[in-house]
Amino acid sequence: MTDTAGVAGQESRSTDFSDDEVIIGLEIHCQLDTRTKLFCGCSTDYRDDRPNSHVCPVCLGLPGSLPRVNKKAIEFALRVGKALNCTVPDESEFARKNYFYPDLNKGFQITQYDKPLAVKGYLDIEGEEGEKRIRITRVHVEEDPGRLVHKGGADRAKYTLVDYNRAGIPLIEIVTEPDLRSPKEARRFLNKLRATLEYLGVFDSEKEGSLRVDANISIQPKGWFGREGRGKGDRGRAEVKNISSYKGVEKALTFEVTRQKNALRRGQRLETETRHFVETRGITTSSRSKEMEQDYRYFPEPDLLPLRVCDLAAGIVLPELPDARRARFLSEYGCSPIHARTLTGDLRLAEFYEQVAGSDPIPAATWVADTLLGELNYRDMTVSRVSPVWFRDLILLVKEGSVTDKGGVEVLRSLLDQLRESGSCETPDQCVRRLGLKVLERTGGAGEEQDPVTKASREAVAEHPQAVADFHAGRKEAFNFLVGQVMKKTRGRAKPADVNQILLGILGEED
Ligand SMILES: [Zn+2]
Repeated sequence: MTDTAGVAGQESRSTDFSDDEVIIGLEIHCQLDTRTKLFCGCSTDYRDDRPNSHVCPVCLGLPGSLPRVNKKAIEFALRVGKALNCTVPDESEFARKNYFYPDLNKGFQITQYDKPLAVKGYLDIEGEEGEKRIRITRVHVEEDPGRLVHKGGADRAKYTLVDYNRAGIPLIEIVTEPDLRSPKEARRFLNKLRATLEYLGVFDSEKEGSLRVDANISIQPKGWFGREGRGKGDRGRAEVKNISSYKGVEKALTFEVTRQKNALRRGQRLETETRHFVETRGITTSSRSKEMEQDYRYFPEPDLLPLRVCDLAAGIVLPELPDARRARFLSEYGCSPIHARTLTGDLRLAEFYEQVAGSDPIPAATWVADTLLGELNYRDMTVSRVSPVWFRDLILLVKEGSVTDKGGVEVLRSLLDQLRESGSCETPDQCVRRLGLKVLERTGGAGEEQDPVTKASREAVAEHPQAVADFHAGRKEAFNFLVGQVMKKTRGRAKPADVNQILLGILGEED
């Protein structure tokens, strides 16, 4: 990477690293948003319930129980495969992956091995240098294991509890080719993938623990990856396991880039290893010194028939996906390219925007993509907390001139704070009145002297004789200063056009 090339070059003994490139591949596990588990009828809506209350002989793996495939989960996975431009083979197959771990009650996991549901696709993202195609190796279906709760923390647990409510929840695993070249690209890929899955209606990113990512990362001489016989001269790579947030992926990868570059510069040889991301500290630590290629003894799952899903796949009609919606936002609403990308990058945001766009879609885009999103991020809230009805009313108040832009933002902040604290909020109109933000209407004619803007203007002129003198000497800044004083006195509620006109009138009288 170029940013450290200079540093590397200064070292006398080191080789030149300026031509290195970062190689990243991802394995993403997402929970499919079905109502029931993958092989039994247990409900997947377990998050607020008691541990081990969503279980049955099948998902507990009791002897004699037999799995049955949830057709909806397969259909959801096929939607993903099609949206990712994959090929769906004529036949796919479930396989047993054998290993022992307390969260895996059966002693094996039902997954897919050499016959996955969908293969060889791609997803286009906004890369570092324009549009970029990231190849998808495969998409397969598997069951989620149970959840371990280490009492007293993962490091010093006194004991561990196991909750099988999650056991058997349908997952899809999406594997990319190592086509990503920076942590930022990895983050963009994940954002695009999340948006795609949500548009498909198969995934809910707001559910805790619904996404986990394993990231492979290495730093290799440029061109190494594409050359024939890759693997030779491999400098070793790290597989960072089980990252559970979007931000975490970028953080973990950024940490790894620095760690690996430093090691290479010191002339160390990097070993291929599994690493663990410590979210709270933003670092990765080594899990095992050497990657043990575990022998999972995969074999075809004897309790399930092979899947022939071509007809099911052929019948699937995909909904409008993020790229198509972005194109529509450009043409239908006249959004700027940046706004169109931001607004369509999240299904809820896109739907929210369409509900508030109304007859004035361009200012609405600014309000949603810039103002609202910024205020939400600041409060760690999501757009699903906001009612499009009151938001539309707020935009309307600003449009009609009842509140200024600045006043509108103040109202928005107040309403979001209320929502965050109590779950409900006033109407924008109530808020405008409570905060006294209503724009002052000018009273003309006989009432002129009672007009608050006129009063404030007279006061400002009386209080700042120097500025008045400067104005008469032809200094424009002096006028702007006086406008500022009037705005301050009216707490920003005066219409700028009124202030200009009234001030000019008063200053003219003195000539
Ligand atoms: Zn069950």
